[in-house]
Amino acid sequence: MTKLAARVASVAGSRTSGARNKARLLSAQGRNVVNFAAGELASLPPTGVLAATSEALSHATNRYTDTAGIPALRDAIAARMSVETGTLVDSDRIVVTNGAKYGLYLTVLAVVEQGDEVLVPAPYWGSLVSQVLLAGGRPVAVDTTENDFRLTRELLERHATDRTKAILVNTPNNPTGAVYPAEDLREIADWAAERDVWLVSDECYSSLVHPPARHVSLLSVAPHVQERLVTVNSFSKSFAVTGWRIGYVHAAPAVVDAMKKMQSHTTSHASSVVQHGLVSAAAGAEDAFRADVLVTLARSRSLVADRLGRIPHLRFRFPDGAFYFFVDCRDALGRSHQGRRITDADVLADMLLEHAAVAVVPGSAFGLDGFFRLSYAIDEKDILLGLDRLEGFFADVR
Ligand code: GLU
Repeated sequence: MTKLAARVASVAGSRTSGARNKARLLSAQGRNVVNFAAGELASLPPTGVLAATSEALSHATNRYTDTAGIPALRDAIAARMSVETGTLVDSDRIVVTNGAKYGLYLTVLAVVEQGDEVLVPAPYWGSLVSQVLLAGGRPVAVDTTENDFRLTRELLERHATDRTKAILVNTPNNPTGAVYPAEDLREIADWAAERDVWLVSDECYSSLVHPPARHVSLLSVAPHVQERLVTVNSFSKSFAVTGWRIGYVHAAPAVVDAMKKMQSHTTSHASSVVQHGLVSAAAGAEDAFRADVLVTLARSRSLVADRLGRIPHLRFRFPDGAFYFFVDCRDALGRSHQGRRITDADVLADMLLEHAAVAVVPGSAFGLDGFFRLSYAIDEKDILLGLDRLEGFFADVR
């Protein structure tokens, strides 16, 4: 066969998408799988968002929009960010994209050149690394396990070289649920400024932080790095619209122009209907929904923590944000379940699916073996069923 471009072989398909698809396929085939793998809320979007979106369908939203998004949505995002960060955000610095994933990709394409190194705190959401590879860059994983899953200046120093071009920060973190405090972010921002590197902040789970922890945006603590900072966020997780593919980016004018140029040649813009449907939510009309989601998630988090804590061979760090537990299963590795050896977390995830009908994402999908990710954003009855199954499985591990 005529050869494919080399870049295709530089990455594998997204394993978070893959795990989700696999669990769904098994359910469609009639298996009653508890899906702890999908990174999304189980609920419907707020009724106000559904109403605004269907209303948008009946108006003249059938035509192209501006490349960077409709002015009403960019204005609402900028106003909201200004309040949340205490920094005046200009809507000209906002680009609405087809999901935060595409916003991140455009960012990487805008700042990473062939051979450039990008520091990525591990464990990481796999697409961050794959996007750097697709852009011809070299992702450099910085293991944060020793520091409660957060980057430090010292860790950055240890991994930086003359080729370092950017740092990717993700708070609240997927998959660990770690939330960076202001001091850490300031330190990272100062380091980025000293080293003259780009700082990309993925804040997709910003609305999903459990008090007393609170989300701190890099822009709010380090406005002095604003020209080298790219902030990426999403509507997906906060308003349960993962399938609608809509996110946004805030960046300096040169980055915004670069992104607009590339977006104009690739997707043109995000879906017009969805953009219209989210204007009021972006302006704050659905904050009660976000608060309700957080209450439900807090209850689920306690439920999972309580039961997981009693399962042998598993340990975890209590997550402050997002909706994941990143479970340390290193103690189970090397042991056996019904005569089969658990060699690594990939094998464990396969065995959990096969013997317990429970889907989780193995840590290797996030660059770290010996762990698996469990989402608690599913219905309480599924959580309970899944935990019963996990308990049953691990009772048989010796
Ligand atoms: N962020 C979600 C997750 O980590 C969705 C990811 C995806 O589609 O890759 O599961």
